[in-house]
Amino acid sequence: MKNIIKSLLLIFFLTISCAKDDSVNNGLNNSNYTFKQQVGYSANDILSNNKFTDIYIEVMYVDGFKPSAETLTNLKNFIGSRTYKSNIIIEERLINIVLKPVYSMEDVRSIEDANRSIFSFENQLAISALFLNGKSTSDTDTTTILGTSYRNTSFVIFEETIKTTANNILGSSKITLESTVVLHEFCHLLGLVNLGTNMVVNHEDVSHSAHCTVENCLMYYLIENGKNIGHWVKDTQIPQLDAYCIDDLRANGGK
Ligand SMILES: [Zn+2]
Ligand SMILES: [Zn+2]
Repeated sequence: MKNIIKSLLLIFFLTISCAKDDSVNNGLNNSNYTFKQQVGYSANDILSNNKFTDIYIEVMYVDGFKPSAETLTNLKNFIGSRTYKSNIIIEERLINIVLKPVYSMEDVRSIEDANRSIFSFENQLAISALFLNGKSTSDTDTTTILGTSYRNTSFVIFEETIKTTANNILGSSKITLESTVVLHEFCHLLGLVNLGTNMVVNHEDVSHSAHCTVENCLMYYLIENGKNIGHWVKDTQIPQLDAYCIDDLRANGGK
């Protein structure tokens, strides 16, 4: 009798394991679309409607660090103005993770892997956007990291650092700062600068790769750095892409 119960338990356990594995495999098989490539790999797929007509942004945030609704509207409008996606869906979800004061990129990848629930499938391209407390392990005396794009469809925003930085800049609103950083990171996923989207005219900052030489462009390198961003985001004006960056996007299937 004992053995039968043991066997039943084992079968039951195996069934659960199989069911779980199947669900994961199905999700990936349906999509067949890789999400662990380098930043810029999906530039054309995000910009054009060749492979995907729709885009779905899964915004995951930890308690107390939800992005502003206005920022997500700004992102939606930006995607509408620069890509050929017919439907732009942005959904927010609170995630429960063990909070840390400082996160490495390895931590960030693990958090995405454990929590991301939307993957590209059929006509919909999925993007993962993570909003965290705490700060980046790459912060130094002269650099505070506000956000980082780290995979072909993934970026992280250090929301607590954004809040702190916004408080330190006279006359800058958190929404403007947050929108600027979100758009900047999203543009890295669009392959800017020279990061999967070829340059029409050479304008990559050779000292700060993947960034633009034009100082008032959204893709200027200091925009990611909380120590310097005050110079760029002084009021309610979000820096725009300059003509070089826009030309690159257009040449790679965007608007
Ligand atoms: Zn950047
Ligand atoms: Zn530019």
